Amino acid sequence: MEKILVLTSGGDAPGMNAAIRAVVRTGIYRKTEVWACHNGYQGLIKKDIFRLKNEDVAGSIQRGGTILRSSRCELFHEKKERDKIKRFLKQKDINNLIIIGGDGSFRGATTFSNEGGPKSVGIPGTIDNDILGTEYTIGFDTARNTALKAIDNIRDTAFSNSKYFLVEVMGQRAGFLAVDVGIAGGAEFILTPEFPLTTDELAKKIMAPRRKKESLIIVVAEAGKPGRSVRIADKLRKLTPFDYRVCILGHIQRGGSPTVVDREIASRMGNLAVEAILAGESNCMTALKDGHLTLSPFPGEKAHYRKLETDKLLKLSSILAS
Ligand code: ADP
Repeated sequence: MEKILVLTSGGDAPGMNAAIRAVVRTGIYRKTEVWACHNGYQGLIKKDIFRLKNEDVAGSIQRGGTILRSSRCELFHEKKERDKIKRFLKQKDINNLIIIGGDGSFRGATTFSNEGGPKSVGIPGTIDNDILGTEYTIGFDTARNTALKAIDNIRDTAFSNSKYFLVEVMGQRAGFLAVDVGIAGGAEFILTPEFPLTTDELAKKIMAPRRKKESLIIVVAEAGKPGRSVRIADKLRKLTPFDYRVCILGHIQRGGSPTVVDREIASRMGNLAVEAILAGESNCMTALKDGHLTLSPFPGEKAHYRKLETDKLLKLSSILAS
């Protein structure tokens, strides 16, 4: 009987539980044994693996985070440690891994399977939606809805009290989250790492409004520097006669019950990952391309990531905010 081990690694994202559930239930339906470990690669290093049954994933689909817990694991970078895991998994007859995580976790999986470790299929999960080779990563829709709800709340007070706000959303390397919540939240300005605007340029735009605005929302992508909106606000206070409030949404965007989109895509990706394993695939991940679910090679050794390719939505936002 084929054995598959599923783990969640790196940053967690809402919808990961729906993916785990789909892997377990498809795996058992397809007559495989499904195993798991806690805390990503850390669980493999600790040899702390366990078998999962259908009932073990009951009641998990609506929960945010990951029931398997996740972590970053420095030791997995060391070949000596990976060799130990390789021997351990061979002993246990486990030849297949399903890794739910980000591109870092997939790089680890690639190295491991290229060294003779188990075959690996990934399921992309990150609220940033920035993994190369797929248009969608699990968690993105929940995060943008959480951020949007926050912006709607902020807009109520911004309007009532005539305030200018900078709202900082996550998005370590790319502006997908910022653009979507900016458009949907009716923001006046959206700052992304791909199409940067200097604070001077932003100040000029604020000082030359197409009509007078009582309140203003500027969505700022964190872009690897959490708190950057505080520094932008400091500069804007010097360059314009207005005061600015800052709201950093932070980790609330990572949690919460997953949306329909995340649960559905995660369920389909979990199912496809098992089918891919049974078809003998390895070093690839489930992916959405042109709206269709498919398999795509792991993004690769180099730290490439997906970026916003056009500023079309930013231009639209500017028209709609006039
Ligand atoms: P994410 O998967 O969310 O991008 P990280 O980049 O932190 O998160 O990667 C998660 C884990 O994957 C790391 O802590 C490490 O254990 C493993 N990993 C990442 N890159 C490599 C690599 N080049 N070789 C071996 N393991 C890696």
